[in-house]
Parts: sequence; C-alpha cells; structure tokens
Amino acid sequence: MLSVGDELTLGQTLDTNSKWISERLFDLGLSPLEHVTVPDDTARQAAALRRLAGEVDVVICTGGLGPTADDLTRDALALASEDELVEDPLALAQVEEFFAARGRPMPPLNRVQARRPSRGLSLPNLNGTAPGLWARMPGGAEVFCLPGPPGELKPMFEAQVVPRLRPVRSRLVRTRVVHCFGIGESDLAARLGPVMDRSRNPLVGTTASGGVVSCRIRFEGSVDEESCEAALTQAEQDVRAAAGVYAFGAGDERLPGALLRLLRERGETLGTVESCTGGLLGSMITDMPGSSVAFVGALVTYSNRLKTLLAGVEPGMFEHAGPGAVSAACALALARGGLERLGCTHALSITGIAGPDGGVPAFDGRDAKPVGTVFIARASADGSSQVRRFRFAGDRGSVRHWSAMSALAMLRLHLVGAGETALLREAPRAQ
Ligand code: AMP
Ligand code: MG
Repeated sequence: MLSVGDELTLGQTLDTNSKWISERLFDLGLSPLEHVTVPDDTARQAAALRRLAGEVDVVICTGGLGPTADDLTRDALALASEDELVEDPLALAQVEEFFAARGRPMPPLNRVQARRPSRGLSLPNLNGTAPGLWARMPGGAEVFCLPGPPGELKPMFEAQVVPRLRPVRSRLVRTRVVHCFGIGESDLAARLGPVMDRSRNPLVGTTASGGVVSCRIRFEGSVDEESCEAALTQAEQDVRAAAGVYAFGAGDERLPGALLRLLRERGETLGTVESCTGGLLGSMITDMPGSSVAFVGALVTYSNRLKTLLAGVEPGMFEHAGPGAVSAACALALARGGLERLGCTHALSITGIAGPDGGVPAFDGRDAKPVGTVFIARASADGSSQVRRFRFAGDRGSVRHWSAMSALAMLRLHLVGAGETALLREAPRAQ
C-alpha cells in the first residue's frame, strides 16, 4: 500500500484508505506486507514505487490523481515504470462525460486526468473525475493507482482492482479476535506463554486499547477450509483458557454488549447511578442496539443534593464528620439506593475524582484522595453487594473511561462467578 499526500505526512488526515483496502485484501486471502506514506513529491513517490515493486507482486497506490499541480501520481508512475504519459481518448471522453452529466463543460485543467503511461491502462471512475491507473513495472510487479477520496476509491477497488487480483497461492488467511478486560497486556502474555510464539501458525498477538486487551489469532496456509477453522478454534481455546474470566467476547463484541448478553440470558436488568462519569456508563450501554431489554436507566447524581434526592443517600454522608461523596460508603449507598429506586436486578454506581483538580490531601487521620480515586459499587437484588476503590491514571477522559469500563467489568465478573477477589486491573501509570 502506498498512500500519497502532504495532508497524510503532515498528520492532518489519517490514512484510512490503507486500513480499508488492507481489510478487503485480507478478506480476499491476501496479506498486505507494508504500508508506506509519502508526500506530494514525484521523486519520493517514484522511489517508493520502485522499492515496493522490487519486493512485492502488487502495489496499490491511493491519492495524487486530481487535476492540480500537487497531484503527481501520473508523473511518478510514468517515471518509476520507465514509460511516458499519453492522453487516453476514452478516459478523456469519460472525464468530459462526468462534467456533461452535471451540465458543465470540463475545465481545461481536468484534461491532464486523461493521461496514462503509454503501456498502462486508465481505470474508469464513475464517482469522480479522476480515472485510476494500472501499469506493469520493469520487474513485473503490477501497480494500481486509485483516487484518494474514499467514496471514489472503494467502488473502484471493487470494480477495477478485485477482478484483476490473482492470488498466486491457493492460500487461506483467516483471523479471530478474543477481547479481554481487567488484565494487563504483559500479564496476559505471561499466561499465554508459548501460545504467543512468533513461529506458530496460528500466530497470536495482542493489542491494547482503552483498557481492552485483544488477542488476534491469525492462520495462514494452503489447507482446506475445515483444517483452517479447526486450527483457529484450537488456538482460540488456548487463548480463552489462558485469559480465563477476563476474556469477555470475540469479534466485534464490546464490553457493554457482552454484559448485556449475560443479563439477557439470565433475564436480569441493570440500572446505573453515576457521579463523576455523568452518564457515560449509561451512554456506553445504550450505544448497544437492543439494550432496552436489560437496561432500565441511569440516575446522574452529580451534586450531593441529587445523591440524596434521587438515590436516597443520607445527608449525613456529606457532612464534615461523614465519609464524603467520594467514599466506599457513598458508592454503596448510591448503588443500594439505585437498586431500590430503579427497580432492577443489579445497580452499579460510580463516584470519584476525575480531575484535573479536586484531589483531597490526607486530613484528620483520613486517607488522601488524589485525582483518579474512584469508588465503584454493585448492589444486587439477591442482597449481595461489593465496593472497590480504584486509582486510575491519566487525564479526565481516561479516568472517566476506565471508571465506566471497570464498573461494567465488575458486574460481568460477578455474573460469571469470578468471585470478589478477581483482580481488576487499573489504568497503567504510563498512559
Ligand atoms: P487526491 O486523490 O490526492 O486528490 O485525494 C483527495 C482527498 O482524498 C484528500 O484531500 C483526502 O481527503 C482524501 N484522501 C487521500 N488519501 C487518503 C487516505 N490515504 N486516507 C483517507 N483519505 C484520503
Ligand atoms: Mg492529494
């Protein structure tokens, strides 16, 4: 994959084209080997094309096919493939047609878009003015050039590139993903041990994002469908065995969705009482379609007055001699009050200091409550309850995200019978 554009190398636009095309290639059984990004610079683009063409069979290049002086893909391709540009009459007619269909004459500048390497091909674009290009490099590699706008690129990739790709090897490439929360990447790696060996097939790797550690399992080989699936299933079992209770889902499943699935299976319901997350937990849950089956609602009790009014917390909680709003006692009172007032099977509460200000130093023999101190409680209709003190790292957004995720995980671990001792990991300090 070669992405072209100053906006990409300057970091102003994220290269989503390479992501999309790579996923499509992967679906087709082809593993992309490298993503390269260059600015709008003919020499750099030609050099990248030459190097990549020396190492792979197919290079897919996106961007730089517009009509202006900074669109240099045509020149770079001609230079790298040791060819010259000629005007393609059919491509010119198509560009003219594009404007005619919109009742406008073609601006003279757009004529350049009909140019292609003399031994190459122009690829029609039904959604824009920029035709794509195909050319064979001196060493034999094929290069496809597609316009940058995703709305033009995607249909062209399907119509013009996919039919021309010929996976040389009858190879299968398949992946599965298992998601975990509550365990750190290195702890999980230690549990996985030899399962993560880089010489194994399926190959298992981990990535961490927002507290979720995902194990990617990838099989590549010239085998039949059944053997491929069997190998993946075995590896998935190994991963799940190593991750234990922390593995909450697979594929596209998210933590809130996994919790909702468990609640639905049991015919149980959930309500939330939120202070420092201000409704984020409820928002994460209601992002999931069908959440109404198990989710009853959220009480957002940001002020102490509303903690009392909506969740029935004793006003004494907030008096000078009381434990205060950020305390285990208050979290438990919020969860118990929510359970009763929301009429659900389980209530989760969150109260803490999201920062950047509001940390409390130690006084009167009480513990300090630095920024990131969060209490999360669960109360359930069976009379059981649980409260935990966390100390999350990072900025306000990070503390709030980890708070909501940890609340979800706390109930999930309870439902799967992991017991109160299951270690919920806190946000790493380095974040
Ligand atoms: P171009 O073909 O260079 O004229 O591309 C025009 C527009 O397509 C750019 O302004 C971007 O908005 C978009 N674009 C180009 N390359 C990419 C890319 N790799 N990922 C996402 N968008 C892109
Ligand atoms: Mg560009």
